[in-house]
Amino acid sequence: MSNTNPSSLLFIYLMIISSQSVILICKADASNETGLLHRLWPASKNYTPHATLVDNPKKTLNKPPLRGMQPISKGEEFNYLEGTPSGPKNWGNLNPDWKTCADGKSQSPINIDVKRAHVMPGDLKRAYIDAPARLVNGHDNIGIEWLGDAGGIQVNGSTYKLHQCHWHTPSEHKIDGKKFDAELHIVHKNDKGQKAVISTLHTVGQSDPFIGSLTKKINMLGTKEEIDLGKISASSIKHEGKKYYRYIGSFTTPPCTEGVIWTIEEKVRSISKDQIKLLKGLHQRESRQNARPLQLLGGRPIWIFDIPEEKG
Ligand SMILES: [Zn+2]
Repeated sequence: MSNTNPSSLLFIYLMIISSQSVILICKADASNETGLLHRLWPASKNYTPHATLVDNPKKTLNKPPLRGMQPISKGEEFNYLEGTPSGPKNWGNLNPDWKTCADGKSQSPINIDVKRAHVMPGDLKRAYIDAPARLVNGHDNIGIEWLGDAGGIQVNGSTYKLHQCHWHTPSEHKIDGKKFDAELHIVHKNDKGQKAVISTLHTVGQSDPFIGSLTKKINMLGTKEEIDLGKISASSIKHEGKKYYRYIGSFTTPPCTEGVIWTIEEKVRSISKDQIKLLKGLHQRESRQNARPLQLLGGRPIWIFDIPEEKG
């Protein structure tokens, strides 16, 4: 194993995963469109419904937009309260389309065991641009949905367009067993429907400038479903780190679709207590937290790589 080029390993692994994940993604799309991780795409002006969705009379595109950027409609479908009938351990039993939450073999989030991460060459390029966006009250989280071409990222030679970002409090991923106070997920999708998420962990300290720039709007959001943000760029989310972890996982919410490329920034950023409160205050759920418990890593590799410091 030590003589094997890490790039080749990654390539082979991705080929295996993508052949499996396409099936899973198609299945999830067909049967539970509005339940997709962040149920964002149906609300997008760019979204084109596919036949399978139209074929399913139960699913329409007229559901309230983003009622669940992080899937949940008013919170009755599933929750984050351990030991309750709709809690994380039962997600897979609540809906036949969510079976992967229970029997998936590459679920997220996971604990990143740093000493077991394989070193590999870097391959993350960000190229975000200004685009119309709106702040969305997902009822389990808040997030931003971009409505036009907001640029995106390149991972493993494939271009993934930016769709949305949202926060979890506390973090979902752990690093060497340590949980953090918040986690930002920036969700991208390529033209094959495959997803790539960039994750940034936050610990309480100084305020985060990006959330700071949204504070007024978040306060204005209140119980509204959404607020227009005008044109913004995800390049405002500064990335200071050079090191990243990567693994193949899933959506962290039902239907827990697998085949998601996760890229987690090694550098932990700060967030103020008030900002945590602000993000939590909008969860209209009894649990006031929206982090799925850790999932088994199984035999999945975790990679670590460096990229040159980015500007912007
Ligand atoms: Zn998320």
